Amino acid sequence: MPDDPLDGLRAALESLGSCVATHPNDWGQYSLDAWLYGIVVGWDCEDGRDDPDHEHDDICANGAMRELAARHCWSSDEVSRLRQYRDAFAAALGLPPVPATTRGNQ
Ligand SMILES: [Zn+2]
Repeated sequence: MPDDPLDGLRAALESLGSCVATHPNDWGQYSLDAWLYGIVVGWDCEDGRDDPDHEHDDICANGAMRELAARHCWSSDEVSRLRQYRDAFAAALGLPPVPATTRGNQ
């Protein structure tokens, strides 16, 4: 048992993220799966976490979030909320924030 209960929670979140990221499910097919994936792994390019000067190219330019939002009729408020949940999830894991300059543009 860890001294800090949040260490146990972080380990659980890491396990959840690893399971989702490596499972061969089509996470975009169903809205619930897509929402879960959006929190745990994220649909936006997050290269800016490691490279604050990252510039999106045609491949990583956040097409996935746009595509998923359109497919599942997520409003801009829902997309914003999903991004906030993703940021909170990543912060709980100690990941650096995605700089606003490299954030998606939807
Ligand atoms: Zn990118």
